[in-house]
Amino acid sequence: MSTQPNLYDLSPDALTRLLADWGEPAYRAKQIYRHLYVHLTSDPADMTDLSKALRERLAKETTIGNLQQIKLLTGDDGMTRKVLWNLPDGSPLETVLMIYPDRATVCVSSQSGCPMQCVFCATGKLGFLHDCTPGEIIEQVIWAERELQAFFSSLNRRSKIENRKLSNIVFMGMGEPFNNYDNWWTSVERLHDPNGYNMGARNFTVSTVGLVPGILRLAEEELPINLAISLHAADDDLRSDMMPVNRRYPIADLVEATRTYTEKTRRRVSFEYVLLKEKNDFPEQALRLAQLLRSEGKPPLLCHVNLIPWNPVPGAPLNRSDRKRVLNFQAVLKEHGVPCTVRVERGVDIAAACGQLAGR
Ligand code: SAH
Repeated sequence: MSTQPNLYDLSPDALTRLLADWGEPAYRAKQIYRHLYVHLTSDPADMTDLSKALRERLAKETTIGNLQQIKLLTGDDGMTRKVLWNLPDGSPLETVLMIYPDRATVCVSSQSGCPMQCVFCATGKLGFLHDCTPGEIIEQVIWAERELQAFFSSLNRRSKIENRKLSNIVFMGMGEPFNNYDNWWTSVERLHDPNGYNMGARNFTVSTVGLVPGILRLAEEELPINLAISLHAADDDLRSDMMPVNRRYPIADLVEATRTYTEKTRRRVSFEYVLLKEKNDFPEQALRLAQLLRSEGKPPLLCHVNLIPWNPVPGAPLNRSDRKRVLNFQAVLKEHGVPCTVRVERGVDIAAACGQLAGR
């Protein structure tokens, strides 16, 4: 295991201090920071505005990233790319890049494995292995940005695709971001930094299993990023069956925290709802969900429902809802005034879709 500092783990201040220890002026730190986050330089040798001695010292005493790429899989005609990494301790991590005609999204992992144990998700089957450091989260995004640029340069110039930068970063890969809040949030702030990678706050989306303290904490943050909440059931018995976290934070508490969040931030949240055939996809359950989100006597929750037909996970005794049941479920929600869409699927052929990330 490397004991050299990973440059992606260093804040601008920490980078300045490291360089000061080496007897280098502060503007050197600024140059390096720009290399990391603007030019996406992966090798100190390419930082040609630095002295040769400094480049060599960086190469010897630091690393730019610490993820080891094990495998790269492509699906959807090259428009979906999943990379499997090993962390320095050998635990697996996955990142998925999804390219669309008008945008590109990277789905990032915040932990290796996951402690939350939702029954329908492949990642939980690994158990919890590792909290990603800020740098390990950032490196996944930088990889995606480089991968995207390589993709565009391989296309002919007449491609209709205009946008050549990542447009969205979603924390929906392995792990529970709010279970690794500090490291995760540091990565968001770093990637947002206008002097560096400069990703707009509204282009980040975090998805949580429903950890109430994390939702309340996010409501207090200044950066207005988007929040998605994995709901998946509108009654406690069923939700506790599917998601053990519901015993700690039952639906009423979750909805109350969501209300606090929307009132404080004025931002619409999305509720994710994985559809499992004959488990949580009956019309009566859609009705119950609508009632939950449109509770009488209170203003409707500022929200949107994202329906996700379940992606198969080996060994899980569950079934995917067929198209007809999905559309029926959606129709009931719409009838009751709940805005609702069905998630477009990506990466099913390479086990890169929602809930299929298990380091294989
Ligand atoms: N821990 C976070 C983020 C990771 S999962 C969370 O729970 O929200 C991202 C989304 O994929 C969540 O809504 C999750 O419930 C959903 N998901 C998990 N397994 C799935 C599967 N097999 N098929 C479809 N969606 C799944």
